[in-house]
Amino acid sequence: MMLLDGKKLAQEIKNELRERVTRMAETGIETCLAVVLVGDNPASHTYVNMKEKDCHELGIKSLRYDLPSDTDEATLLGLIDQLNSDNGVHGILVQLPLPRHLDEQKVIRAIAPAKDVDCFTPVNVGLLATGKPVFAPCTPAGIVRLIKANGLDIAGKNVVIVNRSNIVGKPLMHLMLMENATVTIAHSRTVDLKEVCSKADILVAAVGRREMFDETYVKPGAVVIDVGVNRNEEGKLVGDVCFDKVAPIASAITPCVGGVGPMTRAILMENTVRAAEDK
Ligand code: NDP
Repeated sequence: MMLLDGKKLAQEIKNELRERVTRMAETGIETCLAVVLVGDNPASHTYVNMKEKDCHELGIKSLRYDLPSDTDEATLLGLIDQLNSDNGVHGILVQLPLPRHLDEQKVIRAIAPAKDVDCFTPVNVGLLATGKPVFAPCTPAGIVRLIKANGLDIAGKNVVIVNRSNIVGKPLMHLMLMENATVTIAHSRTVDLKEVCSKADILVAAVGRREMFDETYVKPGAVVIDVGVNRNEEGKLVGDVCFDKVAPIASAITPCVGGVGPMTRAILMENTVRAAEDK
């Protein structure tokens, strides 16, 4: 069984990005990512802190805007507008989820596509759907990169993605099609999920239910990608995949910690550097 080490690959990507950031700095351009966080969701704070840390590590300037949870739409849209027109800002990230009173899609639509390093705006999602993305969707691109960097084939494989969200499942479907996979998207209304999953050469589990996928969902020899992030009773991070039961029959598997998460962040950094270079 091969362990797909996202932490190691992410570090390699970041090492290369650091050099690109330095080269840009030598031409007088300071690569800059603006991160907007509304409210006090603890998980969102953790994610934003980690992204800020990545920026510091790479020499990317990180502008952070912490807004109170009762921020109104006009204030948030005003800030995005200001960041859109600021030539010193190359990437804009609005951490999701937003508090319920804010219209998430409206806020995303306000971000200038050229600065949309999360690849969430309709323009960038549309480009992705045509097979010509400008920015890579972070988690999906991280998954594809991790599989390919480990020498595993995607072309012609049956890929089953258990998730249909705009952040994971749908963009990953497009990337997998671009890699010539045969793709199935499963979700909470899928009939006989086990049967569907057990046909997968590459299984991507992203439902957000701890250790739901045991060996009965997995074809022996499959590649298993665990996207889910959950906490168990002791507060420890666990994935959607029951690692101890699935690892013995998988040909390759991501660890819950140090798998997809670091890759997501590395691709975000890569998109930010690209946004600065392409300006
Ligand atoms: P969503 O809640 O938006 O999506 C969950 C998906 O799982 C939905 O498509 C849902 O189906 C499906 N689902 C839920 N329960 C079942 C079930 N019992 N059987 C089959 N399908 C089911 O979450 P996200 O897409 O935002 O995130 C998914 C998970 O991935 C979370 O744990 C999140 O923390 C993690 N994540 C990790 C990242 C990383 O970098 N490591 C990045 C992004 C997310 P339906 O559409 O029918 O409701």
